[in-house]
Amino acid sequence: MEGLYFWDDFGIPTRFNSLISDQWNPTTDSLPSQGRRMDAKDLQYFKDVLSGMLDDILRKSEETIEDMTESGEVYADPADRATAESDRAFTLRLRDRERKLIKKIQKAINRIDDGDFGVCVECGEDISIPRLKARPMTTLCINCKSKQEEDEAVRGD
Ligand SMILES: [Zn+2]
Repeated sequence: MEGLYFWDDFGIPTRFNSLISDQWNPTTDSLPSQGRRMDAKDLQYFKDVLSGMLDDILRKSEETIEDMTESGEVYADPADRATAESDRAFTLRLRDRERKLIKKIQKAINRIDDGDFGVCVECGEDISIPRLKARPMTTLCINCKSKQEEDEAVRGD
């Protein structure tokens, strides 16, 4: 299972959180968080981050497929077999998450191309840059996200 990694609740690979803060462009960092449209350079920054995430996941997916093919051997020991099967189940669950994450990233890149990136799909307000920095695939501003979470909490009971 070496080379695999996990996502936080927002579907972002943990290692990318550090990548995002490490590479954060200081000129963009100093922008006011509200009331300013991102310029072409900001958008290119997010596009680079998202493309990098996508490449990394696609490369990891290929490795996972190779691992699965290799582990197609037959184990004599039932304990080995059980381990191999649970590894495989784990891999398949991970693949499902990968597919969803890939879709999210591709949609975010499409939004950059369409000029909708960083605009809340609910209320049409700008999503704050610090929020985009932490969650580049988000489509909701913090207010709408909090509201959605409240609604979900109510429905959950
Ligand atoms: Zn909103």
